[in-house]
Amino acid sequence: MKNKDCRLKCLALSLLMICQCALAQPEHDPVPGGIALVPLTTDKNVMFDGRQVMVIESEGAYVAVVGIPLSWSPGSFHLDTAEGEVHFKIKEKQYEEQRLTIQNKRKVNPYAQDLERITRERAEMDAAFNSFRPVNRVGTNFSLPTEGIVSSSFGFRRILNGQPRSPHSGMDIAAAEGTPVNSPAAGSIVASDDYFFNGNTVMVDHGQGLITMYSHMSSISVKVGQSVNKGQYLGDVGKTGRVTGAHLHWSVSLNNARVNPGLFLNQGNTP
Ligand SMILES: [Zn+2]
Repeated sequence: MKNKDCRLKCLALSLLMICQCALAQPEHDPVPGGIALVPLTTDKNVMFDGRQVMVIESEGAYVAVVGIPLSWSPGSFHLDTAEGEVHFKIKEKQYEEQRLTIQNKRKVNPYAQDLERITRERAEMDAAFNSFRPVNRVGTNFSLPTEGIVSSSFGFRRILNGQPRSPHSGMDIAAAEGTPVNSPAAGSIVASDDYFFNGNTVMVDHGQGLITMYSHMSSISVKVGQSVNKGQYLGDVGKTGRVTGAHLHWSVSLNNARVNPGLFLNQGNTP
């Protein structure tokens, strides 16, 4: 009887371990603005649409973690690898429309003298999002970067002051001004500036094309070039830039595609 108990306990434990291993990767949600987890037989030269993509090892097998741009349509696509093409499908997803009123009209219709600054800042952010830094083990098991009320507004088609604008490229977390913001994984600070639309912003490069961005902060406590650990303090929640109130705008990008940050949460407690 005792032996049977032990066997059952072992079985339960090993199942738990398998579950936790399987959970330690972002959620598979192959839609525009989502992530496709694509099984591979190689981790060499894995490209999607001409860009290198993240490859993780899971239970002795390789898995590509592919960011799907919000603007793409459903259909059949493929990865190029050292061992040939690997096909996968992108499914359809309809995002809701969201209408917001911004008090500072200049943040919706910038003045002519703002355009040079906006273009320069966009190039700076694009360069950071385009980075692919080889790192052996990338932390993808994220915790929320700040304590607050999470909105499900990623991908919403936005109408600002009655005018259509780009879809919402991140998750908003409503929190009081001054609430600490912490990095959800180890990485390197690649941008830290006061941007026209995003306000005080920090960008963290976690490696293998995984970049996160924190916007509208009241203060920034890190500098470009600095390394950060998982959980390290980056600054405080604020309401700088184009906002309706104090909140953290959190973007997560893979192979230069902004994806739903929620897919990186709730992976269990494995690193
Ligand atoms: Zn936002």
